[in-house]
Amino acid sequence: MDTILVVNAGSSSVKFQIFSVEGEGRLQRQIKGQVDGIGSRPRLRASGANGDSLADRAYPIESMPDVPAALATAGDWLRNELRINPMAVGHRVVHGGPDHDRPVLIDHGVVSRLERFIALAPLHQPHNLAPIRSLLTNFPALPQVACFDTAFHRTHDAVADHYAIPHQLYTEGVRRYGFHGLSYEYIAKALPQIAPDIAKGRVIVAHLGSGASMCALKQGRSAESTMGFTALDGLSMGTRPGQIDPGVVLYLISEKGMSAPNVQDFLYRDCGLKGLSGISNDMRELEGNADPRAKLAVDYFVYRIGLNAGMLAAALQGVDAFVFTAGIGENSARIRASIVNQLGWLGVVLDPAENSRHARLISRADSRIPVYVVPTDEELMIAQHTLSLLLNRPMPNPRHERVS
Ligand code: AMP
Repeated sequence: MDTILVVNAGSSSVKFQIFSVEGEGRLQRQIKGQVDGIGSRPRLRASGANGDSLADRAYPIESMPDVPAALATAGDWLRNELRINPMAVGHRVVHGGPDHDRPVLIDHGVVSRLERFIALAPLHQPHNLAPIRSLLTNFPALPQVACFDTAFHRTHDAVADHYAIPHQLYTEGVRRYGFHGLSYEYIAKALPQIAPDIAKGRVIVAHLGSGASMCALKQGRSAESTMGFTALDGLSMGTRPGQIDPGVVLYLISEKGMSAPNVQDFLYRDCGLKGLSGISNDMRELEGNADPRAKLAVDYFVYRIGLNAGMLAAALQGVDAFVFTAGIGENSARIRASIVNQLGWLGVVLDPAENSRHARLISRADSRIPVYVVPTDEELMIAQHTLSLLLNRPMPNPRHERVS
C-alpha cells in the first residue's frame, strides 16, 4: 500500500496521520495519531479510520526528550508493527516567509532558508523544522514536502500586506502574512461543491479553534486576513489576546519591567479566553458558565468576531456567504448563534434548529447571506499537496531504510 505520512509538530506534541493513495490519486485517511507529553510524560496514541484504538502507550521521559525523538518513535511503530513505509512525508510549517506561495519539496537548502523565519514564528517554526532535519539525515531518500500556513495568503494586495512602517522593515520580512492558510485553502476548495455560485463570490471564513482568525475569500483566493506578522493578531483566542494596542506592550516593558521573552510568553500563553476569564482557555468550560468573567471572555470573543467581520466585509466590498470552521466553529451551536446575532445588521438570519443539529447550512431561507458550517481538514490538504508534488517528479522507491 502506498501511503503518505502527514506531520504537524508542535513544542511538546507531534500529531501525525497516514493516508493511503488509492486509484487516480484519491487519498484515504487510515490512521490518526499523536505523541504528546514530550519531555514530561511521553505518550503515543493512535486510532484507525473507524476510530478504533491502535496504540496507547507511555514511554520513559529519557527515551523521548524532544520532537525528533517522538517522530522517530511513531515512525518505528508504523514501520515495525504496522509495516507502513510512507512514500513521502508532508509537514505543516507555520511560516514560509514572503516567497513561498505554495508547498515545496524539501532539501537542505530549503531548510536553511526556512530557518531564517524562526525569528518570525519562534514558538512554532523551530519545532516544525526539527523533525524535517532529522528525517533528512536519517532517511535522505525519503521525499519531504513543506506546506505553509502563510502560503495561501500570498495573494494579498500590497495594501493588505503592509504595515505603515518604514519600507526597510517590509523588505526584512515584517509583513502582514496571515495564518491558518491550509484550513482556508481546504474551505476554498470545498466551497464549489457546497455552493458553486457563492464559491465564485465574496466569502468570510471564520476559523475558530484554540487559535482563531478570519479570512476574506474573493473568488476562492485570500484577499485579507485578521492575522498579520504573527499568529497573535486579530481575534481573541484560547490564550492569545488578538488585536492589542502596541502601547500595551510598551507599558508591560517600561512599567512592569517585563523582558522580551516574558512579554512573548504572556502574549502567547496568558491572554485571550484564559486571561480574560481567569478560568480556562477552553470554550467548552466558559460557554454557559455563570461566572461574570467567563461571560465577559465569551462576549469579547463574539464581539471581536463581529467587528472583524465588518472589516473583512469592507475589504470585500460586500459579503455573499459566511462560513464557520475549526473546533469552536464546527462544534459550538451557542457561539455560532451569538456570532450570527452580531451579524444581524448584514441581514443574516439563523435557523436555530439547523444550527443545533450542526447542519451544513444554518441560516434561514430568507437570510440575506447564507451561513455554512464546513469542517476543515488541514491534514488532507497537506497529503494532497505532498502527493501532487511527488507526482511531478520520478516516483521514489517506497522503501526508505534508516541511515545509521
Ligand atoms: P481546534 O484548535 O480547531 O482543534 O479547536 C480546539 C478548541 O475548540 C478547544 O480548545 C475548544 O475550546 C473548542 N471546542 C471543541 N469542541 C467544542 C464544543 N463542543 N463546544 C465549544 N467549544 C469547543
